[in-house]
Amino acid sequence: MKLLSAGAALTVTGSCHRIEVRGRRVLVDCGLFQGSEVAALNQEPFPFDPAELDAVLLTHGHLDHCGRLPLLVEKGFRGPIHAIRSTRSITEIILNDAAKLQQEDWERARRRAGKKPREPDDIEAPLYVPGDIPKTLELFHEVRFDAPLDLGEGVRATFRPAGHILGSAFVEIDTPDGRVVASGDLGNRESAIQEEAPQPRECDAVLVETTYADRAHRSLENTLVELRAVIQKAVEAGGVVMFPSFALERTQVVLYHINAMMRDGLIPKIDVYVDSPMATRMTRLYQEGANEFKDHIAAELDAGRDPFEPPTLRFTVATEESKKLNDLDCCAIVIAGSGMMTGGRILHHLRNQLYKPEATLVIVGFQAQGTLGRRLVDGAKHVRIYGREIDVKASVHTINGLSAHADRDDLLRWLEGTGSARAYLVHGEPPVMESFAGVLASRGREAILVERGREYDLG
Ligand SMILES: [Zn+2]
Repeated sequence: MKLLSAGAALTVTGSCHRIEVRGRRVLVDCGLFQGSEVAALNQEPFPFDPAELDAVLLTHGHLDHCGRLPLLVEKGFRGPIHAIRSTRSITEIILNDAAKLQQEDWERARRRAGKKPREPDDIEAPLYVPGDIPKTLELFHEVRFDAPLDLGEGVRATFRPAGHILGSAFVEIDTPDGRVVASGDLGNRESAIQEEAPQPRECDAVLVETTYADRAHRSLENTLVELRAVIQKAVEAGGVVMFPSFALERTQVVLYHINAMMRDGLIPKIDVYVDSPMATRMTRLYQEGANEFKDHIAAELDAGRDPFEPPTLRFTVATEESKKLNDLDCCAIVIAGSGMMTGGRILHHLRNQLYKPEATLVIVGFQAQGTLGRRLVDGAKHVRIYGREIDVKASVHTINGLSAHADRDDLLRWLEGTGSARAYLVHGEPPVMESFAGVLASRGREAILVERGREYDLG
């Protein structure tokens, strides 16, 4: 059994790991490298021939796990892409959005360079465009949780729920030579909607993500006390409450908690807007996928009470509807993307609200260095949005406990199931991985920090 990684090796994004056993070659995920420091890696060739792969096992629909699938297909991959049904639906939305953004960026760059249509240029072309996506989607094959999938030559894969986002899975790969487990992304055990991932079966090697392997998340209880206090204070101030939010999972979790607080009379029933076409589509998928969540979610939906729809919720999909929100000036909650405030409709709301002392900005997601979101978290007093200088007078709050990722304790608990299997650490920053490798060593487990392009013998 051999491992060869083509991404999420000594970095968080670009998940792509080939496992080879008895001549069968399966790829676990094929994600995009995200962020200015690693984006150039998307242009590099895969360290294997995509045409020689037998199958892809896709753990979930986040872009850093599915975003290079169209490139894999372009380079000759024709095998099946096995995934849970909701992962296919999410991937379709995510890939189309990524393709559209790449095409828009490219066209903008051409306009700036003064290029006419069809005039040649040396501007980097998009990795793929929307027209490339159907060829990838037609390779999808639906799998079910806990049902072993035959990959030939005695190799079988079983998808098991990972509790990270809708449809997320970790995979157990059984072979005549032993068992390999790949974690994908694992969820936060304190998620209000996702069931905690079960422990994997004992195995010979385990690939494990390490995104937050060096920290403990704030408890959900404390997080909700904080969230409620922030919303109450914002309502008293009489302003608009803005949640910049990732369209997938974070938006639905925020909606879930707002709905629960309104239902229990903990916050007043003020208007709530999801001002994002993509978040609206994702919320619909969450409503359809109810049976994948904790039992009470499906039960509520069955009883006609939608846990993702506060009574005052409106989805503003059309641009005209969204523009009307520019005039909001009292007591409403607006959830809009992008999550790190690098684009999208949230920028209009920030421009219209940040200068008002009665407005509130609630940051519930990770903010990378160099983004507008990060500057606001760091206390910027002035920001520039659409060329306009804006004084930041609104209150800015950061709430960290709503992460969809496992923390150190979650990872350690999950790993217990794998016995004493050697751990191959992926999907993390090197200092985080080193600290986690130290924790594992102190518990008698060997850990390897996986490097991109290097082959490992899994035994
Ligand atoms: Zn993920």
